[in-house]
Amino acid sequence: MSVNLTSASELLSRWFHIQTGYVESSLLIPPAQNRLALQQVFQTLNARSCPTSYNFHLHTRRSDGQLEPDEVMQQAIDIGLKGLAITDHHTTQGYKESQQWLDNWKQNHPELANTAPQLWTGAEINAQLLGVDVHILGYAFDPDAACLQPYLQGDAAFLKTDAYYAENVIAAIQGAGGLAVLAHPARYRRPFTELIAEAARLGIDGIEVYYAYRHTNPWSLNTEIVNPVKQLTDSYGLLNTCGTDTHGRDILLRI
Ligand SMILES: [Zn+2]
Ligand SMILES: [Zn+2]
Repeated sequence: MSVNLTSASELLSRWFHIQTGYVESSLLIPPAQNRLALQQVFQTLNARSCPTSYNFHLHTRRSDGQLEPDEVMQQAIDIGLKGLAITDHHTTQGYKESQQWLDNWKQNHPELANTAPQLWTGAEINAQLLGVDVHILGYAFDPDAACLQPYLQGDAAFLKTDAYYAENVIAAIQGAGGLAVLAHPARYRRPFTELIAEAARLGIDGIEVYYAYRHTNPWSLNTEIVNPVKQLTDSYGLLNTCGTDTHGRDILLRI
């Protein structure tokens, strides 16, 4: 008779994550993974929160962005952001380097440490929803959680597997202690009304309501899309988020 040690230790680790999930604001949870704190911030967001107070959609050179992680963080500090997340495609490498840089910056500027932005873990993951390819943002998850690893390999190898289905992406993010958010809902091959309804049915936590569908400078929202998305999001009782989806060299712009 043999005992499967791998699955036993995995079960134990899952149990641990579930148990610690109940300890609100526990010291066991790093601030970047504090889902409840992030949920509270999401509840305060409105059309003016991004991009000068918060930004929950940013890319670095660790996926397809043009800024180094430290350049993103320096800009976040210069702007005076209260909070942000690095959401590179299928990797948390950019987040990890940003966290390291921020920790060092706080050590070197102790007098300013309490003014530094709060950084949360993040990633943007491809998923299939109602037969179309969509992007799901994950936040405040444990980047080392086993259930997320298929999605954080830097590429999209999982696209050919069941892992690609939106319900599995959402479950993996939530299983890692995080929040799952449907990115830019009006940019896909099906109407946002259908996609938001289905995402809600599958248990998504939120919708990226405040998104600049046009590439304007300065960053601005098109109310003819954002207002109905916001109404629908509220009607399902989902959280709303905002972000610039910056791929260029200025985190105040979507380029
Ligand atoms: Zn996207
Ligand atoms: Zn993006």
